[in-house]
Amino acid sequence: MSIDWTKILILCPMNNKMKNIEIFNESKNYMPGGVNSPVRAYKDVDVTPPVIKKGEGAYLYDEDDNKYLDLVGAWGPMILGHCDKDVVDAIKSTAENAIAFGGTTELELKLAKHICTTVDNMEMVRMVNSGTEATMSAARLARGFTGRNKIVKFAGCYHGHFDGFLVSAGSGVLTEGIPGSKGVPEEIIKNTIVAQFNDIENIRYIFEKYGEEIAGVIIEPVSGNMGVVPSEPEFLRELDNLCKKYGALLIFDEVMTGFRVAYKGAQSIYGINPDLITMAKIMGGGLPCGAYGGRRDIMEYLSPVGPVYQAGTMSGNPIVMSAGYATVKKLYENPSYYDYIENLAIKLQKGVEEIAKEKGLPIVVNRFKSMMTIFFNEEGKVKNYDDAKKCDTDLYAKFFKHMISNGIYMSPSQFEAMFLSVKHTEGDIDKFLDIMRKM
Ligand SMILES: *Cc1c(COP(=O)(O)O)cnc(C)c1O
Repeated sequence: MSIDWTKILILCPMNNKMKNIEIFNESKNYMPGGVNSPVRAYKDVDVTPPVIKKGEGAYLYDEDDNKYLDLVGAWGPMILGHCDKDVVDAIKSTAENAIAFGGTTELELKLAKHICTTVDNMEMVRMVNSGTEATMSAARLARGFTGRNKIVKFAGCYHGHFDGFLVSAGSGVLTEGIPGSKGVPEEIIKNTIVAQFNDIENIRYIFEKYGEEIAGVIIEPVSGNMGVVPSEPEFLRELDNLCKKYGALLIFDEVMTGFRVAYKGAQSIYGINPDLITMAKIMGGGLPCGAYGGRRDIMEYLSPVGPVYQAGTMSGNPIVMSAGYATVKKLYENPSYYDYIENLAIKLQKGVEEIAKEKGLPIVVNRFKSMMTIFFNEEGKVKNYDDAKKCDTDLYAKFFKHMISNGIYMSPSQFEAMFLSVKHTEGDIDKFLDIMRKM
């Protein structure tokens, strides 16, 4: 492999304005690291992040008026592109009359009914405000319903920043190079069992050992938080069998994959019927949202019907419900969107693989429908967390710098998915590839 890194333009800003840097530096005085979520600080790649002013379709604009082709899509939600007219209209018209009541609205019914009637295995749903809240609440519900304490999660899967899930949690935690997080008491973690992703022997062993104590197993059926790593179908099937055999609940964390890999989520592609499903990201149309749902008998264990407590002042907020409804309804009514974005992703994958070959770059592309990750990995495969950890993050950082300084906005971490939207075009993919070819 020979790359002349001296040819690479280093760092934004692309023009001579300084507003990005000024705003970001001042932000550091008032918000830890200048950000409200760690990966945004670009610490790993040593670049000052663009301060984003505006989004339009597949493009973003920063405070220095640089224009970027966006492959982050707010980490998944913006499947319709930025500021889709129907979503904006829904937000505007709702805001005229309803901002927050902390009371019941018909908008909640509209979205809940739409989700329950169009997505499988969602007999009932509870709205919350983030993916973290959804997974944390689903874990509590699984524990309350089964009367057991242990939850199994898989190494490399991320389920938000709930204490009990912050072990081997991929993504942000992996990028920061820490095993989990300070501030998480061991007593909490002791009820979390970390299993190996895509390892049938390992999950069998765990069930043989702890089966009667396991309340639930939570999994990203297609992980997007160690980079994209899909489950192998036999592995998921065996996991489902084991859960049934031992009376543990199977929880699919479809926060990222729901309405993304298919309208009905990854469960519909694998043909598995989880007991509970968590959602967020796309289902709120870009506003703060989350939901968990599933079997009626389990959901009716929730307060006020049942004994498991979970609540939220902002849960089911009218503006969020209307943005979410406008988004999922549009996706439901336009099934061709999914083929369209998948075809773009296929084109992108093929192009990247070709360039990697031409240039002798150690690249593995994992793609599942329209989610993909370009891994800089010498071993030629990424099937689990251990494989992901072997990636060359320095080389990724160089790639990232080259791309962003040429107007391609992508994840500053190796361990994230790239997302396309219905506003991306073949021309955008060509643009990405042309810039990558100059690396
Ligand atoms: C993003 C994500 C979460 C956390 O959602 P937040 O809204 O950031 O709390 C949980 N699970 C998965 C699979 C995710 O991708």
